[in-house]
Amino acid sequence: MLRQYFEMKSRVPDAILFYRMGDFYEMFFDDAREAAPLLGIALTARHKDSDIEAPMCGVPYHSADHHIARLVAAGRKVAVCDQMEDARASKGLVRRDITRVVTPGTVLDPDSLLPGLPSFLTAAVPGESEWETAFLDLSTGLLQAGTVPSGRMADVLALFRPREVLLPEGATLALPAGIAVTRRSADWFATARSEASGTAEVLPGRGEGAARAALAYARDLRGHALLHVRPAAPLRFGERMSLDASALSTLEVFESSDGDSSRSLCAILDRTRTPPGARALREALAQPSIDPMELAARWDAVEELVGAAAVREALQQALEGVGDIERRFGRIAMGTAGPRDVAAWAAGLKAVPGVRAAAAPLRSHRLRDLADGVPDLQDLVRLVEETLAPDPPAVSSAGGVLRDEADPELSELRRLRRDAQGALLAIEADEKKRSGISSLRVRYNRVFGYSLEVGHAHRDRVPAEWIRRQSLANAERFVTPALKELEEKILGAEERIGEIEERLYRELLASLSRGADRVARAAAAVAGLDLLACLAQAAATGGWARPRLSETPRLRLVEGRHPLVESLRREEPFIPNDCDLAPERRILLVTGPNMGGKSTYLRQVATAVLLAQAGSFVPAASLEMSLVDRIFTRVGAADHLSRGESTFMVEMLESAAILRGATSRSLVILDEVGRGTSTFDGLSIAWALVEYLHDTPEKSGFVLFATHYHELTEIALVRPGVANATMAVKEVNGKVVFLRKVIAGSADRSYGIHVAELAGLPRSVIERAREILSNLEKQELDVQGAPVLARHEGESAGEGQMLLFSAAEELVLEKLRQVDVNNLTPVSALSLLASLQDRLKRH
Ligand code: ADP
Ligand code: MG
Repeated sequence: MLRQYFEMKSRVPDAILFYRMGDFYEMFFDDAREAAPLLGIALTARHKDSDIEAPMCGVPYHSADHHIARLVAAGRKVAVCDQMEDARASKGLVRRDITRVVTPGTVLDPDSLLPGLPSFLTAAVPGESEWETAFLDLSTGLLQAGTVPSGRMADVLALFRPREVLLPEGATLALPAGIAVTRRSADWFATARSEASGTAEVLPGRGEGAARAALAYARDLRGHALLHVRPAAPLRFGERMSLDASALSTLEVFESSDGDSSRSLCAILDRTRTPPGARALREALAQPSIDPMELAARWDAVEELVGAAAVREALQQALEGVGDIERRFGRIAMGTAGPRDVAAWAAGLKAVPGVRAAAAPLRSHRLRDLADGVPDLQDLVRLVEETLAPDPPAVSSAGGVLRDEADPELSELRRLRRDAQGALLAIEADEKKRSGISSLRVRYNRVFGYSLEVGHAHRDRVPAEWIRRQSLANAERFVTPALKELEEKILGAEERIGEIEERLYRELLASLSRGADRVARAAAAVAGLDLLACLAQAAATGGWARPRLSETPRLRLVEGRHPLVESLRREEPFIPNDCDLAPERRILLVTGPNMGGKSTYLRQVATAVLLAQAGSFVPAASLEMSLVDRIFTRVGAADHLSRGESTFMVEMLESAAILRGATSRSLVILDEVGRGTSTFDGLSIAWALVEYLHDTPEKSGFVLFATHYHELTEIALVRPGVANATMAVKEVNGKVVFLRKVIAGSADRSYGIHVAELAGLPRSVIERAREILSNLEKQELDVQGAPVLARHEGESAGEGQMLLFSAAEELVLEKLRQVDVNNLTPVSALSLLASLQDRLKRH
């Protein structure tokens, strides 16, 4: 048996093997060690029916699907190895075979899919400097393909979040955790590339090889044609705003910072009424538009729906009846839909004309295009209604799937069966009368068939001509020739009915599959209308404003709010803030005490831009903006100091990526960059970064930089494009109150101590801190040139401290170095001199 086990396992080395033994599926060795904790079942060492001694765990066969779904949800692949013959009938080892392989990227079971999330299988083939890449969502039939520069694969994967990645052997690709990896040989990929896809058309073009590989893999695994998969659409990253992985997480687009997807931007925005609409919202946020026409069309639609609340509500109500017509159709086309699924799908299609009717009063182009683009699907509804029984069972093998009218032979056989039921009851009544056993019952059992059941108490009244069939604990079962004859008739009809139902049901699925194109169009229209109604509802309830596009570079947000902070942290009212950036004032340095609201401010500006380009209105009094091609964010390691040095490395790598990838139309958010290292390093890097961003406008666009390095604000003196802002604070009875208001200027550095006081540090510590601060500010040195601070502490001065003192001097030197003496008027030379001297005096 072990040999057989290993033979099976070798065919699917990367999957957890469910090996059928009697009423259980057993897992062995590493599979068992991996699966047991994921399934919350016990790991044991020995199977009761065999002499295998190995780590193992098992699940009852009837609950296998549930356990498979859990493993697949955890990113694992599962291969099911079944017994191919009756264990009792076989001499020696039972023949077994792998009957199916379930993987995260090809699974269709609704229990393994989240309604609002796409379920992508990615195929990726590396080339010289780019990857051929395809994303296939088998559940909906969406296929996209193209090429992605090697350096951008990580961002693209963060956007699509595939559940499984198919790679050639030997190819290396950094993948986020939890993604299943499947490898195939180069030969396999070559064959897939040359094969006619048979079903979905892959037009020659970029990413074609990857698209064909994804289709071939899905087809192999499912053993079914992919009738619902639509021709590959090109991956058009150039036509989308690009959000890197860091921006998606900083702006909490799909997950809050603590990993909760119900507290994300997407979640609080989501008022969609259908799963296709929910998926459309995700896509709008993941791939915001950079096309002004497209955005105007979406904003027009949202504006109309904001104004027409009654129409919007009627539309949303109509949408509620539609359900997931897209994924249900996927299961129909792949032959895995049960009759109940098909009935629910048809009910959804039936609701579609109502959506169209509800949208009739709407006038904006986008809404008209969507509503008028809904194809007629009533023939499909009729086909289902004329074929399926009302309230059909969940699985087709249960029987009672079809209407009598669906087939003349079926209705004839059913009549026969009904008559036989009557005849059975007649036999029961007859024999009851003849034997005088009033408790006599006709019973049915799958092994022994029909019989007359008599309790032991009445055993001696059984007529002689009855034939004993089965003995039970307290009853016996008998047959009579008449009963046997009837049984044959019934079972014959039963079997034939089963055959007809199965055949006609398969034919129904095949006929429905031919509507793939229309269903896809209907689903797209439903998704689009649902998305726009959702955005309008968010705008209407939140009092959001329609963005205005500026031809020239501009980012002017008035009374902006952060939608997440505003809706989730209701302890204090949200204070709106403005932001105004233009080419002559491109970089805003925001200083201020910890907890003052710097990070929130930065994120709210970026979130407004993201929402606007997703087609949404924005939580502000107004927003005037030029289109942003990329949003970059880099959040310093401030909150993750415990992660240590490597964090700083990550921080610098990401900063480097920003400096490489940004353009004059990008929005760059830098929050406490440089904090992951010593003060001196951090300040220097931050300083150099701001200088670079300022001096190469073609590589940075607008920049918001929050920092606790107070010294950094001095850059504004020498770099005209840099402006300073700070979070206003007020002192009340010696305590600091955060006003959450962004004002021009830079923060008073001593507020840090106020905050420490607020936090409850002992009075002696606070007083000592004030003393040290004033020494630092006076730049008092002792005779050896060490800061007073060091002498007080009884330690020698550290390098960092020394260098901190010279920051002001450094700045003066730097400014002197930069002065272009030949272009300086006497008056400005004088005023520069005065300002430099002033700078030194202040320290
Ligand atoms: P910082 O980055 O300056 O340390 P944060 O942006 O993290 O500060 O904000 C600190 C706290 O203040 C957060 O809990 C946030 O909810 C709250 N907050 C920030 N900005 C506002 C605002 N404009 N109105 C109300 N509360 C705010
Ligand atoms: Mg912060």
